[in-house]
Amino acid sequence: MKIARIETFLAPPRWMFVRVETDEGVVGWGEPVVEGRAEPVRAAVEVLTEYLIGQDPMRIEDHWQVMTKGGFYRGGPVLSSAVSGLDQALWDIKGKHYGVPVYQLLGGPVRERIRAYAWIGGDEPEEIRDALTAQIEAGFTAVKMNGCGRMTPVATRAEIRAAVRRAETAREVLGDDRDFGLDFHGRVSPANARRLLPLLAEAAPLFVEEPVLSEHMDIVPDLVNASPIPIALGERLYSRREFIAPLRAGVAILQPDISHAGGISELRRIAALAEPHGAQLAPHCPLGPVALAASLQLAFTTPNFLIQEQSIGIHYNQGAELLDYVADPEPFRFTAGQLSRTDRPGLGIEVDEAAVRTADRRGHAWRNPVWRHADGSLAEW
Ligand SMILES: [Mg+2]
Repeated sequence: MKIARIETFLAPPRWMFVRVETDEGVVGWGEPVVEGRAEPVRAAVEVLTEYLIGQDPMRIEDHWQVMTKGGFYRGGPVLSSAVSGLDQALWDIKGKHYGVPVYQLLGGPVRERIRAYAWIGGDEPEEIRDALTAQIEAGFTAVKMNGCGRMTPVATRAEIRAAVRRAETAREVLGDDRDFGLDFHGRVSPANARRLLPLLAEAAPLFVEEPVLSEHMDIVPDLVNASPIPIALGERLYSRREFIAPLRAGVAILQPDISHAGGISELRRIAALAEPHGAQLAPHCPLGPVALAASLQLAFTTPNFLIQEQSIGIHYNQGAELLDYVADPEPFRFTAGQLSRTDRPGLGIEVDEAAVRTADRRGHAWRNPVWRHADGSLAEW
């Protein structure tokens, strides 16, 4: 079997799909994208396509090595995301070829259901209350929300209080049996993070995510020691090597993105690296159905998996939704906030190819907002 054809599709709201077809007619799907930087990733996939055409799709590891390390200059979000999507598609092909789910090829299932969390928006405490109540009614046992809006580098007492109040409101509404993650999105300076974390401990979030940007890794050990709240990060790290420092720092929850950090192949290794550190995996995934399906395949076979992000209903999805691109929504049907294991081959979903081709004709040019502080200077989004 040989790889015969590779196509990419830009799909609203802000995603990209890759379709890899073999000369025997087996088709695999992947999702190579960096949100807001889809076009350069598409170009990177085109460059890698030169190498892949005519190759045996079953040699996933060898292709991963060549795509990742075969060039003198390597790494970074664009190349790594291109490799990630192609890696997902090759695993999809392999699973379909053998007629088994990818998790069977990775050692078999270790669990029957995947706990997922839902996103809530709403910046005002009363809006948070309504959004939380809606997700509880939808059956979710965990939610994630932004921990704050834009925050000045040395925050006022009011800004700090507002962030603490938001967490307290979430705990009040959820009670003690449900969980919430607080995502600070790298918006908080190291000084603010040191002040905030101890004040959030009483509300006991499941984790605090990106309390600082991952580029401030040198201060993460201080933050781990500043409060008992588990620290989570990793959506902006791109290889297993980049996860060594956070593991050594005591980060409790790794959040690699299966479309950024090297695909199924590399996330599996990141999970294995985390296991002897006692760290859990909670993969980042605000993306589409292929990235979520690939994440689920990994979760079914990963012992130290904690919880899965997913984008259904997320505030970023304007104009299209995850379920718009699958022929059968069943693999993404939640029961009590969980997704159940199926025996469907490959990544376990059927992509609606006609919908993907139609979406590509519309395309998108999604960019993240550029935020500014009150004085006009750039703020982290
Ligand atoms: Mg995040």
